[in-house]
Order: sequence, then structure tokens, then C-alpha cells
Amino acid sequence: MATRRLSSLISQSFSSSPFRQVVQGQNSSLAKGIRRIGTAVAAEEPIMPPVELNYTQLLINGQFVDSASGKTFPTLDPRTGDVIAHVSEGEAEDINRAVSAARKAFDEGPWPKMTPYERSRILYRFADLLEKHNDEIASIETWDNGKPYEQSALVEIPMFARLMRYYAGWADKIHGLTVPADGPHHVQTLHEPIGVAGQIIPWNFPLLMYAWKVGPALACGNTVVMKTAEQTPLSALYVSKLFHEAGLPPGVLNVISGFGPTAGGALASHMDVDKLAFTGSTDTGKIVLQLAANSNLKPVTLELGGKSPFIICEDADVDQAVELAHFALFFNQGQCCCAGSRTFVHESVYDEFIEKSKARAVKRVVGDPFRQGVEQGPQIDLEQFNKIMNYIKSGIESGATLESGGERFGDKGYYIKPTVFSDVKDDMLIAKDEIFGPVQSILKFKDLDEVIRRANATRYGLAAGVFTKNIDTANTLVRALRAGTIWVNCFDVFDAAIPFGGFKMSGQGREKGIYSLNNYLQVKAVVTPLKNPAWL
Ligand code: ADP
Repeated sequence: MATRRLSSLISQSFSSSPFRQVVQGQNSSLAKGIRRIGTAVAAEEPIMPPVELNYTQLLINGQFVDSASGKTFPTLDPRTGDVIAHVSEGEAEDINRAVSAARKAFDEGPWPKMTPYERSRILYRFADLLEKHNDEIASIETWDNGKPYEQSALVEIPMFARLMRYYAGWADKIHGLTVPADGPHHVQTLHEPIGVAGQIIPWNFPLLMYAWKVGPALACGNTVVMKTAEQTPLSALYVSKLFHEAGLPPGVLNVISGFGPTAGGALASHMDVDKLAFTGSTDTGKIVLQLAANSNLKPVTLELGGKSPFIICEDADVDQAVELAHFALFFNQGQCCCAGSRTFVHESVYDEFIEKSKARAVKRVVGDPFRQGVEQGPQIDLEQFNKIMNYIKSGIESGATLESGGERFGDKGYYIKPTVFSDVKDDMLIAKDEIFGPVQSILKFKDLDEVIRRANATRYGLAAGVFTKNIDTANTLVRALRAGTIWVNCFDVFDAAIPFGGFKMSGQGREKGIYSLNNYLQVKAVVTPLKNPAWL
């Protein structure tokens, strides 16, 4: 496929945009500037660190190849809607080729025969390469996704490297148990890889979702076929090339770009895929679970939607609560499955909270994600943009008070002004559905029992936030809230070691941390008679 230098792309796609001012070697000055994240200091011109888009084909058996059909699809720049590149479109036949390669690598390749320590060293080398190419990778991620470059470069790519090192550390520490059975037998368990793992990821955190899935799968000795999101195929291809540079044998990790019902469906229903991991919407989660059940009953982990409550109690420091609730909702353009999208505020601080939340939203710096100091870039695509605008309309029509935003920002791309609704009631659509955008819904409550009941009255259970100085209030809420993560006086604190996953319709299973390993291991019980029962 075409090797496209950024400079030529700029002249093709952005000739009239400030991106024409890209200067090679600007990375370091940008890196200094980005430490001022969140201070609303915006540089005059956006600066995109130089990047080469070399990898737009499918990655099968260690090679970049065209799709069987030869078809491609465009991946778009959310800032403008312009085409960044045409990417090979994988379909069922390509999934077959990738699964065959992964199967062969698992059954016959060097990967399962390596010592776990050798496998861990490849993961460590990959993490080093991620750090070496931090700015290029961050640039691709922001270009394809629209998230602030500062967030990509300073937070997400370093976190990606941390995740890979975390799993590298696990690779040679996975082992079974000796089991004291009631009888003259020596009993042990072997923890073995499952085989070929199929993994389907979304577009909101393309590389972190890649890391959450590839990390445990490979640490446990499996091979992988990954289907990336059609909106953001570029960064996974780029980093997978680095993974091979780090020594990953061919066929161990195969990456297919393509659409959900075709490539994703073929992967979920494939008879030779031994395990499926999916992150995306609850509706699609139901589909892939059915496809897995109707094919070979492969075990499935699901990380799905959410409508997470963030509860601000009467003793809260209002300024801090406003800032945290703002972050909990608006981070990543509101495109987080665990976003604190129902802000419950105690009546005693409600009015002050509304005024200050509105002021904070108005101050939020929206703009080109490559511009220094920008906190919010565009939404991912036109479909999401329209969906969010419809929710805003529904909020207004159902009687919530629009405090700020509520409209498009600028005249191109998919930007939406930070939107705050007050007077939100539990039965409004904006309080029930996952909006996945920069729309904060603020609800008033009187007492703890009431807010517990209302916070739990949702089909979701991914996360919750609690803001209080009172340890008894915190302990009560922590135990009463039905969600996979409870953040107390903080929000969106993620680490490789902290498990993540949902109660109820937010998912099945846990990713990250020690819990994620079980998703990729089979337990084999081995029973041997003991010849001398006197020594049981
Ligand atoms: P969103 O609505 O946020 O795009 P989706 O759940 O539709 O979330 O998408 C998440 C991932 O699931 C993407 O990689 C997408 O291509 C994939 N996907 C969508 N539909 C299907 C499907 N029918 N079968 C398998 N994968 C799918």
C-alpha cells in the first residue's frame, strides 16, 4: 500500500488549514508546552508532530497484505471529515486467513514453545519501542480519533507502555496449584493458554483497548486475531509493526480493519476461534454473544455501555466537586463507557454547583486537538455527532434546563460545545441512555437512601463516583452501589493493575489486573495415584 508522508497528505487534504505550518522537529517544544494541560492556554497554531502512514493494509501472519476482495474504505479526520487514508477492508475471507495464521502459530509456531520469560522479553521490548515512538503514535491516534494530542502523548501512550510492561511481568508468573484432594492422589492444576483469541475493539480509546486485550492474551501464551473499529484503524496497524520489530513471531498477532457485521461478525462466529473479547455498545455485545453461542460456544468477555452516577454529597467542597464532575463527564469528548453521566447533587449545594458547573463548561477549551491547551476535540464522526445532537434536542424537549452549550462548535468537523443540563429527571432519555458525548446531566437529591435507589435504577453497572468527606457516607455508598468500579473522591483513575468491568448490562468479566488473566487461561487438572498412601 501507499507510503504517505505527512507533508504530502497536508498538501492534499489540509492545504487551506493551519496544518500546512507543520515543521519537522517541533515535538520537543510541544512536549514542553503540553505540561500546561487544562490551563486553557492555547497556542496560536495547531502543530501535528511529523508522522508517516506506512501501514494501511491488513496484518496477517506478520505481513501487511491487501484484503482478499481488494476493497478499501476511507478513514476520516474528525476535525474536518476529510479522508486521511484508504485502508484495506477485511471481510469473512480475511478473518479466515487471519484465524488460520493464528491457529498455525499456536499449534506449530515458536510462540507456545518459548519459555514464558522469552515471551515476556518481547513484551518488554515492545513497551520500549512504544516509548521511543511516543510522539508519532500519539499523532496517529489523535489524527484518526480527534482526542487532544496532549492526552494521547502524555497520558495514553505512556499508559499503553505501562500496560505492556505490567503484562510482560505476568508472563513468567502464571502457574497452577497443588491441590490437597481427599484420597491417595497427587493433584495439580496446569494453567494453559486457551488458543486463538478473537478480539473486537471500539474507537474511543483505540490503543488502550488494544493493550487491555492483547496484553493478557499474549502474556498467557495465546495467539490473537484483532478486529479494530472501522473509525480508527490506523494506530493498531502502526504499533503492531513495532511489536514484530520487538521479536513477535509471525501469526501471533493478526490485525484486521473492517466493519462490524462483516469482519466482526465473522470473527465472533468463527469455529476455530477459542475465545472472544469484545468492547463496545450493549446492543452489539448481545449480537456477538449470540454469534459465539450459536457457533462453537467460545467463552466471551464483554465490556459494554454505562450510565454511571457521580454522587456529590452535602459536605462536599463544591469547587472541587465541580471540577471532578466536569472531568468525569467531559474527558475524551464524553466518549467514555464509564463517563459520570448522571451527576447527582445534594439539594443543599445544588444551586451553587449548577452555577459553577456552567461556568466551568463555558471555560472548557474546545478546538483543534493538535493545538496546545485544547481540552476537547471533535466527536469521532457524523453519526455520533448527530446522535448526540438528538439527545440534546430530547433534553430540551423533555423540560431539562439547558445551562450551556447545546450546539455545534465551529462550522466544520464534529465539534460540540460542552453542554450542561440541570433539572434533569430520572425518566428523561438523557438520564437513561448512554449519550457518549459532552453532555452533562445534573440531578438533585435529598438523602442517601433516595440517591442509592435512584443511582442503581439503571440497566447498567459499569462505574460510580462518590464525593464526600464523611467516611461513613463513603463506606455506605461503596457497598450499596451496584457497579464494577467505585471511585471515591476521584474519577477515571486507571492503572494496569486495577480491574475494570461491569455489573448488569455493562458486561461480563473483568479486564486488567490479575483478574484479566483468567479470561485467557484454561485450567487443566492432573491426577496421579500415589503409590504409598502413608505419605499423603
Ligand atoms: P459504537 O456504536 O460505539 O461504534 P459498536 O458496539 O457498534 O460501538 O462497535 C464496537 C466494535 O464492534 C467495533 O469494532 C465494531 O466494528 C464492532 N461491531 C459492530 N457491529 C458488530 C457485529 N454485528 N458483529 C461484530 N462486531 C461488530
